[in-house]
Amino acid sequence: MIPDIPSNYPPARPDLKAFRPPKSQSKVAYLIWRVHMWIEGTFSLAMLEPWEKLLLLIIFLTTFILLTTGIVRYLPHHISVMKGRAMYYLWGSESQESPVLQWLGKNAGPSGGTSRIVLGFAQVATEYVDPDNGITFWGITDPVHLVTHGYVFPPISAGSTEFIGEIVAPIATGWAGVSPGGEMVDNLLLMVWANGDTVMGTNRFATDYIQPVPYAGPIITNLPSTKVNSTHYKWVYRCQNFWDGGSLNTNAFVAPAWVFSSVGVDDPSDINTDFQEHTDFGFYGSNFSAAHASAEDYNNWAAGGTGSSGGSTTTTTTTTTTTTSTTTSSPTVAPTPYDYIVVGAGPGGIIAADRLSEAGKKVLLLERGGPSTWETGGRYGPTWAEGYNFTKFDIPGLFETMFTDSNEFWWCSDITVFAGCLVGGGTSVNGALYWIPTADDFSTATGWPASWSNGNHDQYVSMMQERLPSTDHPSTDGDRYLEQVYSVVGQLLEGQGYSNITINDNPNYKDHVYGYSAYDFINGKRGGPVATYLQTAQARSNFKMEMYTYASSVVRNGSTILGVQTNNTAIGPNGYVPLNPNGRVILSAGSYGSPRILFLSGIGPSDMLDIVSNDPTYGPQMPPQSDWIDLPVGYNVSDNPSINLVFTQPSIDAYDNWATVWADPRPADAAQYLENQSGVLAQASPRLNFWRAYGGITDNVVRYLQGTAHIQYSTIFTITAYLSTGITSRGRIGIDASLRPQPLVAPWFEDPGDEPVLLQGLKDIISNMDSVPGMTMITPDDTMTMEEYVNLYDRSTMDSNHWVGSNSILQVVDENVKADKLYVELQASIMPRLPMGNPHGALMSAAEHAVANILALQGGP
Ligand SMILES: Cc1cc2nc3c(=O)[nH]c(=O)nc-3n(C[C@H](O)[C@H](O)[C@H](O)COP(=O)(O)OP(=O)(O)OC[C@H]3O[C@@H](n4cnc5c(N)ncnc54)[C@H](O)[C@@H]3O)c2cc1C
Repeated sequence: MIPDIPSNYPPARPDLKAFRPPKSQSKVAYLIWRVHMWIEGTFSLAMLEPWEKLLLLIIFLTTFILLTTGIVRYLPHHISVMKGRAMYYLWGSESQESPVLQWLGKNAGPSGGTSRIVLGFAQVATEYVDPDNGITFWGITDPVHLVTHGYVFPPISAGSTEFIGEIVAPIATGWAGVSPGGEMVDNLLLMVWANGDTVMGTNRFATDYIQPVPYAGPIITNLPSTKVNSTHYKWVYRCQNFWDGGSLNTNAFVAPAWVFSSVGVDDPSDINTDFQEHTDFGFYGSNFSAAHASAEDYNNWAAGGTGSSGGSTTTTTTTTTTTTSTTTSSPTVAPTPYDYIVVGAGPGGIIAADRLSEAGKKVLLLERGGPSTWETGGRYGPTWAEGYNFTKFDIPGLFETMFTDSNEFWWCSDITVFAGCLVGGGTSVNGALYWIPTADDFSTATGWPASWSNGNHDQYVSMMQERLPSTDHPSTDGDRYLEQVYSVVGQLLEGQGYSNITINDNPNYKDHVYGYSAYDFINGKRGGPVATYLQTAQARSNFKMEMYTYASSVVRNGSTILGVQTNNTAIGPNGYVPLNPNGRVILSAGSYGSPRILFLSGIGPSDMLDIVSNDPTYGPQMPPQSDWIDLPVGYNVSDNPSINLVFTQPSIDAYDNWATVWADPRPADAAQYLENQSGVLAQASPRLNFWRAYGGITDNVVRYLQGTAHIQYSTIFTITAYLSTGITSRGRIGIDASLRPQPLVAPWFEDPGDEPVLLQGLKDIISNMDSVPGMTMITPDDTMTMEEYVNLYDRSTMDSNHWVGSNSILQVVDENVKADKLYVELQASIMPRLPMGNPHGALMSAAEHAVANILALQGGP
C-alpha cells in the first residue's frame, strides 16, 4: 500500500514541458516528438536529470565514432590480410593461381611440392647448396614467383647476432624481400632489386604497416656471388647485428616471411628509394636450429670464401646447452666501462688505441667494418693463393683490383667518395705510398699550433718510423721489378733538371726531385698500422677491438661525455658503451665519418644539426638544442686536385693493366710471390714519384706539384699530377637528408690561384717529351691543347682520396685535439692543410703527437 503524502509537503509541480506534443501542425515535428517519447519511455531516460542524459550521450557518441572508424579504416585491410593468409595456408600462395595444382605439388620450384602441409605450412625449408658459392643454405623457392630465399647461421652461441642470407629472383621481379622474424612490423626486413647490372640490397624497418625506411642498425655486407645475369638477380649477403631488427630465434622451428612485388621500386638507382606495397607475400616453416654451419665454413663464407670443409651443417650445431639458446629480443648486456673509447680502426684510431693501451689504459677500439688482412681474420683472397694465408689486402700487387672487383665490401657504402670501412681503414685498401713528413708539413705558417712546429713534432716522426719504416724496394729479394716506367719517366725528368734521390732519406728536399716510390709494405706484404701498432695493442689484456660496430654518436650530458652509442647490443644495453669516470672518447672515424658522428652528437654548424634533428631515428637521440655546440665541423676541407696524362713507350710492360692478377696472374709471378713474397706482386702499381715547387704564377703562394708514375695497360703508363702543399682551395663536407656524408662544396680549383699552377705543371711535364725515344702522349692527344684538356677535365674525377681538414686543428679542435670535451683527432680530419705527399705518413705522425698530448693532459682516467 502506498502511504499518503503528508499534508505539509508542497504540491507536486512536474515540469512536463519536454513531453508536450509540438504546437505546430507539422507532421515531421509530430513524428520527431513521437520518436523522442518512444526513446525516453523505452530507455527510461525520462527518469534522468539533464546532466545525466548529457553524460550518457557523450559515452554513446564516443563509442560510435570509435567503432565506425575501426570499421571504415581497418576492417577492409584486415579482411584482405586474413584472406591472403588463409589462401596461403591452403594453397601455398596468397595469389589464387592454380590452387589445385599447387595443392598437388605440381608447378613447384626445386624445394616446393615435396614437403607441403607439414606442420601447417605450405612449404618447409630444405637444405640446398648454392652452386655459385658453395654455401649450404636452408630455404625455399616459392612455387609461384620462383624466388629462392635461404639462410645459414654460425654455430649456436650466446650473443651471436649474424647470419648469411640469399635472395635469388627472376630478372622480371620488381623487388623481393624477406622478414627472417616472420613479421613486417618491428622486424628486420631485407629487400632487393636490380638496377641494371647492380644488385641493390637494403635493410629496412617499419614500426607499422607503412613504408619501411632504411635502417642503420644491422651491418650488411654483400658477398662475392652477388650478381645480375640475363635471367636472375642474386643477392648473397652477410647480416650482422640483426638484434636491432627485433627478435629472432635461431634455435627453433620458425616461420620466416617473404614478400614479392611485380612492380619495381620508385627509383631503382636509389638505395633508399620508396616503393609500393608488395603484390604477394607468404610464410614457410624453417627449422632454424638445423641451419647452423660449422665455424670454419661459416667464417670462410662470411669472408667471401666458397665451398665447404665437408662438415655437416647440422652436426655442428647442437653441442651447446640450452642456456646458450639465442632466443631473444635485444639481449641485455652488462655494460663494461672503458677509460678510452676510440672510434674507427683506421691508421689514426689504431695508433691511438695502441699508445693508450701501452700506457695501461683500458681501451675499446670500435670499427664499423670487418677484418682485412689474414692477421686480422680476413679471408677474402684469390684462389691462386689458397693455403698461403694471404688475402686481397695482404698482397700489394692486388691494389688495382680494389677498384675492379664485383664484390667491393671494403668500401664505406654510405659515403659518396672512396673510403675504406674495414680494419685499417684507408690503409688496408690504399696504394700504401708512404712519405715521411717534411718540416713544413707541421709549421705555424700552414696552420699548426706552435707546440707542433719548430722541431716540436720531430720526435713523433721518429717514433712512427721506428714502428713503421718505409721501403722503396718492397720485394723481399731486394730487387725491383717492372721498372721500365721508372727509366722512361726518369729520363724525362732528368732533362728538366730533376735530381734522382731516395725520397724518404731527404724528406725536406721536394723541389725538382724524383725517386722510387716508397711504401709501408713489410716483408713483401701490406704493413701499415695493422701489421704493427694493432698487433702490439692486441697482445694487451687491457685492449679490446669490436668489429662490425657502428658508432652513431657520443652520448653526453652538456659537455660531459658519458659514452658512445653503437648498434652493437652485444657490448652494452641497446648498444651503449659507457666510460669510466673522467674517461675520454676519441673520434678517429676519418674525414667523413668523424664529422657525421659529431653532427649526430649535436656538434657542428646549425644547418647540419637541423638535418639530424629532422631524422626520425637519430633526431630524438640528439642532446637538447640548448646543448648543441656550434663548431665549424666540415669546413676547411682539402683534397689534392689531380689530373692524369697517359703515354705510350715501346719498352713498357704494362702488366695487362693488372686485369689478370686476381683470377689468372702470370704463373711465374704468382709462384714467386707465394714462395717468398718477392717479385712484381710484392709492390703496388706506382713506380716513380717526383716533386717540383712553383711560385709567383698568379699570386705569391708557393705551391708544390707531386707526380706519380704508374703502370697501366699495354705499353701505356700514366703520370698523375697532383697539386700539393700550398694549395689554397677549400671545400666543405656535410651530410644529406639520409645522413650520408659527402662533399657539399668540392675543394678542387675553388680558389682561382690553384688551377694555373697545375696547368703549368702539366705543361712542364711534357715540355721535353721529344727527348725520350718512342714516348708519345695519347691523353690528351695532339688534337687538344693542355688548356683545353684541363678546362674539359671532369672535376668530379679530380678526387685523390686524400681528404683532410674537416675537423681542423685550431678551428674545430684545440692544440690538444680537443673539441670541447671530446677528442677528435689522430686522423686526417685534424690536418689543417694537405701535407707534401700522400697523407697517411703525416697523419700517422700526427696521431703519435696527438695521443702523447692527450695522455699528458690532466684530469684523465
Ligand atoms: C683508394 C685510396 C687510395 C689511397 N692511397 C693512398 C696512398 O697511396 N698513400 C697515402 O698516404 N694515402 C692514401 N690514401 C689516403 C689514406 O688512406 C687516408 O688518408 C687515411 O687512411 C686516412 O686515415 P684516417 O684514420 O683519417 O681515416 P680512415 O682510414 O678512413 O679510417 C677511418 C676508420 O673509421 C671507421 N669508421 C668510420 N665511421 C665509423 C663509425 N661511425 N663507427 C665505427 N667505425 C667507423 C672506418 O671503417 C675506418 O676503418 C688513399 C685512400 C684511398 C681511399
